[in-house]
Amino acid sequence: MDEYSEALNRYYSEKNSGKKCKGCKNHKVFQEKDDTLSFSCGDGPGSQCSEGFKISLAKYINYKDTLHEYSEFVKKDPTESEEKEIKDLQEILALSKKQITEKNQFSLKKKKIIEYEDLKINTKIEQTKILHDLTNDQLSDSDKDGLLKRYFSLHTVLNDNYKSLAELCDSPINNYAEVDKGSVQSIS
Ligand SMILES: [Zn+2]
Repeated sequence: MDEYSEALNRYYSEKNSGKKCKGCKNHKVFQEKDDTLSFSCGDGPGSQCSEGFKISLAKYINYKDTLHEYSEFVKKDPTESEEKEIKDLQEILALSKKQITEKNQFSLKKKKIIEYEDLKINTKIEQTKILHDLTNDQLSDSDKDGLLKRYFSLHTVLNDNYKSLAELCDSPINNYAEVDKGSVQSIS
């Protein structure tokens, strides 16, 4: 776990483990404002029993909303001084898009869908051939029995594939991208 996640865990476990500091029996102090959380032992500066810390929370943007804002902004024929803002937005959007694509496994989903489509076509081709062979008088009954079993097993394989594809694609799309990792500072 990284420092940021550790600090978050610690913050909430301190919050859930009683009001009093174990070291000095002071009341713990928690502050939550804007984008920061801070924790310290109630003792004054220089206290040895429990060092405090401040967490600047990670910041996220909604990619779709930001993209929309960007296109509205560009439409308005921006002034020269706004060019910088546009450049910044473009950068944020590019980084966000990369994150969203990875987070939502779009490439993997696309690959799996194409694989499924190929399997569907190949299954259809083989099944059509099986149906054709079933009326071939040259084949024995046990051969035909085998063909029928093969026909239905192909169907099962296709179904199983469809189920796992549907599961992969079932999770809702996450449009949030992290634009600031957040940080931890110790308070002494
Ligand atoms: Zn203390």
